[in-house]
Amino acid sequence: MADSGLIDLRSDTVTRPTPAMRQAMASAEVGDDVFGEDPTVCRLEETVAALLGKEAALFVSSGTMGNQVSLLAQTRRGDEILVSEGAHCAWYEAGAAAAIGGVQAVVIGKGGLFTSADIEQAIKPQADWYPRTSLVALENTHNRAGGRVWPMAQLLEVTAFARARGLALHLDGARIWNASVAAGVAPKDIAAPFDSVSVCFSKGLGAPVGSAICGSRDLIRACRRLRKMLGGGMRQAGVIAAGAIYALEHHRDRLARDHDNARAIAKRLAAVEGARVDEGSVESNIVMLDTPGVAAERVIEAARAAGVLVSAFGPERIRIVTHLDVQDTAVRGGEVLADVVAKLAKRA
Ligand SMILES: *Cc1c(COP(=O)(O)O)cnc(C)c1O
Repeated sequence: MADSGLIDLRSDTVTRPTPAMRQAMASAEVGDDVFGEDPTVCRLEETVAALLGKEAALFVSSGTMGNQVSLLAQTRRGDEILVSEGAHCAWYEAGAAAAIGGVQAVVIGKGGLFTSADIEQAIKPQADWYPRTSLVALENTHNRAGGRVWPMAQLLEVTAFARARGLALHLDGARIWNASVAAGVAPKDIAAPFDSVSVCFSKGLGAPVGSAICGSRDLIRACRRLRKMLGGGMRQAGVIAAGAIYALEHHRDRLARDHDNARAIAKRLAAVEGARVDEGSVESNIVMLDTPGVAAERVIEAARAAGVLVSAFGPERIRIVTHLDVQDTAVRGGEVLADVVAKLAKRA
């Protein structure tokens, strides 16, 4: 946004490394990470494992690789996994769970959350003709549910139930940092019930590249082999790992600012005739805006002409995301968007 003058509210992935982060990256000590010899990657893996309260961690190229390697490590071909409505691992990973993992995803619950009863009803009985239900995946915060934060009591309840039923537990924690700040709960407390947790450095934290998988030493050893198999073994990756370390150290607390900005935008939009925003559901850095009677593509086009970028999340649904690179301009972007929607709604 700084270069183009546009206020980019499409995604928190659009952030660019700050000068200080670039400095840390440029001066990173590096080595061959496939040989386990990159000191910066090792330091990142130790740092993130400690933050999430797990024995070990593995640096991977993307959140998609983090999710898919986690699934591969804990399922067999023909298994079934239980996922939330709109789960990233089923919606945005190019069908990898089926194509690479050989598992089918079954959606449970509503709005990104589910209950023990939802799990109970979805578990297939044991017989040769049923798929084996082997894993439950939660997403926190939940992207398609508008940055929804899992209530801790419910998270603990459903994970304990899944554990008792012998299911493996995966957390897609691409935005666990946002969940932690929003709920006032330490990342390791959110991560505690899970066997595997994938986290992103390239979303709200503002690093240019990278994610990590955290779990037991044995699980991470299996994941390291699978990462290589998928072509994710990187060599002097310390250059990018340094950006992730910098982000963990400097950009976590500031996520509260993004959440404030998202709430301010939601409030402004909620006052617009023709806009539907559920202010109460804005718990982190994502706002979902519905524009009944006005196509999302028209809103996007008019907003772009007015200097604001947003993305479509349905035929008449827009997603707005706040982040580091718009911390001073996001609210103004929301005002511009509000005017755009008001005008379009009047014409509709
Ligand atoms: C962005 C995201 C991912 C990973 O995306 P990549 O683009 O592959 O890094 C995973 N889960 C959720 C919920 C996400 O929002």
